[in-house]
Amino acid sequence: MKLKGIEAALFDLFDTLLLIERGDEDITEKCMKNVYAFLSRNGIDVSYETFRKSYSEARKQIYERTGAELEEPHFTIRVSKALRNLGYNYDEESRLAKGAADAYIEELSRYVHPDENAIPVLKKLREHGYKIGVVSNFSIPEGARWLIAKHGLEKLLDTIIISGEINRRKPSPEIFFKALSNLRVDATRAVFIGDTPDTDIEGAKKVGMKTILIKRGDTNLENTKSKPDFTIRNLKEILEILL
Ligand SMILES: [Mg+2]
Repeated sequence: MKLKGIEAALFDLFDTLLLIERGDEDITEKCMKNVYAFLSRNGIDVSYETFRKSYSEARKQIYERTGAELEEPHFTIRVSKALRNLGYNYDEESRLAKGAADAYIEELSRYVHPDENAIPVLKKLREHGYKIGVVSNFSIPEGARWLIAKHGLEKLLDTIIISGEINRRKPSPEIFFKALSNLRVDATRAVFIGDTPDTDIEGAKKVGMKTILIKRGDTNLENTKSKPDFTIRNLKEILEILL
């Protein structure tokens, strides 16, 4: 089956175009350990467990306050709050908070690589006149942009929207509308491709876009409200749907 009348393809970033290699140890934990190592080198004198607990608490408090509106405060806001709770007065603009975000990305980047079909598929879609964009939920937007550029995706994208830049995350309609308006494409003439039903599929459907779910591993569709128009296992299948 083909989708007709589509002018733009918007993609989720992580686990859609850029894959995160998952070994035995939790990647978030590895990234947080690198954040902690940076902070320790810069005068924060607490144990990892103490810092980790304070960070989790700060994150929870921030999302309790902002979660209902689907806001996405920057990672540096969580870190500075965690540090303040430990008696260290650094705000989110401080060199320490920014360095912590860089340390997170430095570690994460060791596990990120593009899906082998990402670049060929984006190139093919562009050849056929499609506008291409990325809409990503991520609280370190400059880090996401750096990873996009590092892996050669930037020149293939007409717009990039990262939730941390606009303080709205998927499935909020605003983040999808922002990308669509940058591309000057109506929602009904756009398709969204992502791996997470509750954010990618539900959000895109709500604004009137067509949707393609890429199944990574054992994505469970049983309990999700929104069913995608198409389900694929490999990015190459997008070409069968759109070309
Ligand atoms: Mg994803």
